[in-house]
Amino acid sequence: MSRSIAPERYAQRLERAQSIAAEREVGALLVGPGADLRWLIGYEAMPLERLTMLVVPATGRATLVVPRLEVAAARAASGVEHGVVDLTSWEETDDPVDLVARLEGVATAAGRGAKLLVSDRLAAAFLLLVQARLPGAVYGLASAVLSDLRAVKDEEEIGLLRRAAQAADRTVAAICAGRLVGRTEADVAREVRERLVAEGHDEAAFWIVASGPNSASPHHGASDRVIGAGEPIVLDIGGRIEGYGSDITRTLWPTGGDAARGPDVEYRTLFGTLERAQAAASAAAVVGATGEEVDAVARSLIAEAGFGNAFIHRTGHGIGLEGHEEPYLVSGNQQPLVAGNCFSTEPGIYLEGRCGARIEDIVVCHSDGPDILNAAPRSLAVVSGV
Ligand code: ZN
Ligand code: ZN
Ligand code: ZN
Repeated sequence: MSRSIAPERYAQRLERAQSIAAEREVGALLVGPGADLRWLIGYEAMPLERLTMLVVPATGRATLVVPRLEVAAARAASGVEHGVVDLTSWEETDDPVDLVARLEGVATAAGRGAKLLVSDRLAAAFLLLVQARLPGAVYGLASAVLSDLRAVKDEEEIGLLRRAAQAADRTVAAICAGRLVGRTEADVAREVRERLVAEGHDEAAFWIVASGPNSASPHHGASDRVIGAGEPIVLDIGGRIEGYGSDITRTLWPTGGDAARGPDVEYRTLFGTLERAQAAASAAAVVGATGEEVDAVARSLIAEAGFGNAFIHRTGHGIGLEGHEEPYLVSGNQQPLVAGNCFSTEPGIYLEGRCGARIEDIVVCHSDGPDILNAAPRSLAVVSGV
């Protein structure tokens, strides 16, 4: 198993989470399978009906509780292997919630009415069992502690996001160079999945191929619609490397080899506006700018061109171990960007039932300015597609 995240990172992450928990008089964090768990100790746990939970008390050692049949998998996790956390397992007929409740800090915290913060992705079934066992605690979400920490990427994380972005760039280039006209969206999507992996991702994560009127639907998947010459295709694709995602959107226009089937003036105007808005959003993503300020930069340019009602989503989202995470570039987010934040800038213009366009890059906010991880050309890709 390749591992880009140094083992000592996990100890540092736990320590930082614990110090914030202590400051805020949190008793413990209760973290189930998901990105929080993977970020804290490098364990990509299977989300099972059996309880897996990392218990992080505000002070003292953290303990990973797993069902016995997961012990071998858990031992292979970096944070367990390097002794950053203790590992304890429960037998098939044990009550794992009882085991959690007896861990250092948990029951005492519940007894004095302290906070227990559960990971946002913890299954409700487990949360209800914990609440029934420890009714004295005050419950909250672990994202209150973890999301700001996770939003600041370290060098290894940025390295993985960069590798993923470059693999996505190469995938886009291959799709632009290949045949499109006469194929279904689903067939192109299948090729996208294969290429994402062939170019270096561990796995493909999503593959939007939205042609013709489908391009006006931002989260269109890939249908049986046959792609024609003389219409746009919004291609929004991504995969994962060691859990870290790529997410790129480019808009293509296959002509079928017939120059007369190129984009008309209206579409070129729309796309030119979008290009300026996306470039301006990326350039505005500097330390200290708020998420809503970056959003407003893109939105005002699009609105000035008369497409304000056609930009129907936020400008971007953070990316890391989750495809969508903090920070969000959206009106209402007044938190200033800090160095190490990684997010998409992806304005779009959608004319319902007719056509749409989107451009998306992943950007890292650095002290010396925005670092755009994607390098694939952003202009409308007018290709032959035959
Ligand atoms: Zn989206
Ligand atoms: Zn995307
Ligand atoms: Zn995105």
